[in-house]
Amino acid sequence: MIIRKSERQLNKMRKAGRLVAETLLQVIERIEPGITTGQLDSIAERYIRCRGGTPSFKGYRGFPATLCTSVNSEVVHGIPGTRRLKDGDVISIDVGAVVDGYHGDSAVTVEVGDVSDETEDLLEVGRGALSAGIEKVRPGAYLGDVSHAIQAFVQHKGYSVVRAYAGHGIGRDMHEAPEIPNYGRAGQGPRLKTGMVLAIEPMVNRGTHEVKTAPDGWTVHTADGELSVHFEHTVAVVEDGYEVLTCRCLCSE
Ligand code: MG
Ligand code: MG
Repeated sequence: MIIRKSERQLNKMRKAGRLVAETLLQVIERIEPGITTGQLDSIAERYIRCRGGTPSFKGYRGFPATLCTSVNSEVVHGIPGTRRLKDGDVISIDVGAVVDGYHGDSAVTVEVGDVSDETEDLLEVGRGALSAGIEKVRPGAYLGDVSHAIQAFVQHKGYSVVRAYAGHGIGRDMHEAPEIPNYGRAGQGPRLKTGMVLAIEPMVNRGTHEVKTAPDGWTVHTADGELSVHFEHTVAVVEDGYEVLTCRCLCSE
């Protein structure tokens, strides 16, 4: 069952989303060659806690950190640690936070120093894929419309979407129904209704869509070692379409 949130609950989710967005901004500002993924994690955890939130991921099924930091061919769920970022890398930062019992969840992939034109292109397609999905969100649309828009956008650009991991509903639990695949058919699946909140999160690979999990049991990387990017927003279905709860344009209230 897909849980619909009341306006009062949505207000709590707006707070969680805003904290997640602010945390990402704090982390993005510090990304540069030489910094370690562990240092980025400390920045995020400190920020979330000092703003009265709790990291969603830390302790989740034993995950040890506040952020997932996935570098280059790592797709998702990378564990922060002693790895130092290098010029030309890309790093995906995924963060969740709970405020007043509700979760926000968002991810962004960022370039480290100067990246190649090819890398820049993949980043742009990743960002575009997330937008293409979000733009389909409105009451009455099908969940499959979102999935299909993402897949079509990515494949048209010659890249592939990861199939083994998907987006998800979000609320009191970080992962609620429905599952939101990044591929599928328009006009299929459940209809969207006001009050539903979706974490939409395309993972886009330069090579094949296939992925593998590293021996640490967490880090997911591309099977062919090619680059991967990941973008995610927590999005509410509202009367006139969608509202991005984790928007980093924090000036607009
Ligand atoms: Mg996430
Ligand atoms: Mg998520």
